[in-house]
Amino acid sequence: MAALSTWITRRAARTPDAVALVDATTGTQTTYAQFAANSARRAAALRSRGIRRGDRVMLIGLNSTTQLETIFAVARLGAISVPVNFRLSPAEIAYLIDDSAPAVLLHDDMFAELAAAAAAQAPRPVDVAHLDSTDQPEAVIADEEPVADDDIAMLMYTSGTTGKPKGAMLTHGNFEWNAINMLAAGEGITPTDSTLAVAPLFHIGGLGLYVLPMLYTGGTVVVAPAFDPAAALKLLARYRVSVLFMVPAMWDAMSKVPDFDDHDLSALRCLLCGGAPCPLPVIDFYQGKGLTFMEGFGMTELAPAAAILEAQYVRSHAGSVGRPVLHDDVRIVDGEDRDVPIGEVGELLIAGPNVFAGYWGLPAVTAQDKRGGWFHTGDLARQDADGFLTLVDRKKDMIVTGGENVYPIEVEQILFTHPAVEDAAVIGLPDEKWGEGVTAVVALRDGASATADELIAHCREQIAHFKSPRRVEFVDVLPRNATGKLLKRNLREQFGSSGSAVTR
Ligand code: ATP
Ligand code: MG
Repeated sequence: MAALSTWITRRAARTPDAVALVDATTGTQTTYAQFAANSARRAAALRSRGIRRGDRVMLIGLNSTTQLETIFAVARLGAISVPVNFRLSPAEIAYLIDDSAPAVLLHDDMFAELAAAAAAQAPRPVDVAHLDSTDQPEAVIADEEPVADDDIAMLMYTSGTTGKPKGAMLTHGNFEWNAINMLAAGEGITPTDSTLAVAPLFHIGGLGLYVLPMLYTGGTVVVAPAFDPAAALKLLARYRVSVLFMVPAMWDAMSKVPDFDDHDLSALRCLLCGGAPCPLPVIDFYQGKGLTFMEGFGMTELAPAAAILEAQYVRSHAGSVGRPVLHDDVRIVDGEDRDVPIGEVGELLIAGPNVFAGYWGLPAVTAQDKRGGWFHTGDLARQDADGFLTLVDRKKDMIVTGGENVYPIEVEQILFTHPAVEDAAVIGLPDEKWGEGVTAVVALRDGASATADELIAHCREQIAHFKSPRRVEFVDVLPRNATGKLLKRNLREQFGSSGSAVTR
C-alpha cells in the first residue's frame, strides 16, 4: 500500500501538469508537480525545526492549500498531523495540546491569537509558529521517510458529543482504504473530477470525503477558506466542480440562496450529504433540480466513510444511511455481542481496513471498543435483508424505562412536529419508579407558548405512553458543541439531580 506522501509524488511523476489544488480566493492553481515540490519543501522546513518521525504537528487554520500541503509534508516525515477545530475555546485547545503533546502548533493569519492563548493555558510548553514558516525556498529537501500501512498519519479528535473528544489514530492505510471505498461508491470519481473543500478540513468529513480521495485519484480540489452558501454556489459554477460533500445544514443553507437557479451546475454530477440525518425537503430540493444526491454515514474512527445510500435509493430507502462501503463488514449485536435477527435494533459493529488504530493514550478504551476484532461504534442501528442500515440512536443516549427501550430521536421527531417547539432533546433521568424517566428538554419558538402537559399530550397522541415524556423542562437554547451536535450529557447533569418537575 502507499504512504500518504507518495500519493502526490507518484502523481507528480505521472501527471505533473494536472491541477491538484486551486485557491478559491486568489484563483492560484497548484499542479501535482508543484504540490509535491511544495510539500517536500515544507517537510524540509519542519525537519529543520526539529520535527521527526512520530512527532505531532498541530494545525489550526481556515481551509487552505497551505494546510493541505502541510498535511502531506508532515506525512512525508513520518510525523503525525493533528488538525484542530478553530471554534474550540483556548481552554479546550489547551486540553488537546496536553493530550497529544505536539512538538509544534502551526496557525494561519486568522488564528494567531487563538493559538497563543491556547498555548499559554496548556500545562505543557509548545512551540507556536505560523503555517508560512514551513515555506522556506532554500530548504534542503528531505527524503520521504519510509512508512508502513499501519503507521499513524493523523490524530483526528472526535466531536466530543458523548464525552471528551478522543484522538482517533488514523493510519496511512486507513486513508488509502477510505479513498478506495470512495472511488468504489456510487458513480465513483476519476482524475477528471473536481471537488470543493468547503466543509472544514479539521473534521474528518471535510478532509476524507472527496478531498483526500480526489488527491488519491489525481483530480482537482478547489479550496474555499470557509463556508458561505452564496459564495460556495458561485465557486461550484465557476470551477465546474463535479462532486461535493457537505453536512445537512450546509446543503440546507445553499438551497435557500435566492438566485440558486442562475448558477450553471451542469458539471455537478454527485452530491453527498452526511454527518447527521438529512431532512427530506433538502433531498427533494436537490433531486428536484435533477442533481444526483447521495447520503452517507461516517465516523472519525473510520476515516470516515462507513455506509453510502446511493442516489437511486434515497427515496425508496428514505431514513436509511445505505449499505456498508465496499470493503467493510458489519454486524448488529445485542449487549452480549450476539448477532440480533435481521431488522432488529442493536449496536453497529464494523470491521475493515479503514478502522482506526485506536484512541491516542487510551489503550483500555481501545481494547474495549475493538474487542473481538470488531469496532463497536456506539451507534444503535438495524439492517434489513438487503443490507441497508438505519441508524436509530446513540447507545449512550438510549433510555430504559420500566424495562422498555426508548430511542430519544423518535420522541424528538414527534416533539418537532409541535408548532411551538423550536428545538428539543429527549434524555433519560434516574427515576425511582421507572429506572429512567423519559424527559424532554424543550426550547420554544420566539413568542410561542406551550405547557408541559400540552407537549406530553401531543406525544401521547402519536407514540406509546411509555415513550412519551413524563417530564418536560424548558430552556432558552439547548447546549451544542462547536460542531452543532447536541450535548445530552450536559443536560443529564443539569436536570439529573433536580426532582422538581412532575413525574407521572
Ligand atoms: P464523540 O465520539 O466524541 O462522542 P461524535 O461521535 O459525534 O463524538 P464524529 O466522529 O464526528 O464524533 O461523529 C460520528 C457520529 O455522527 C456517528 O457515530 C453517528 O452517531 C453520527 N452520524 C454520522 N453520520 C450520520 C448520518 N448520516 N446520520 C445520522 N447520524 C450520523
Ligand atoms: Mg463517536
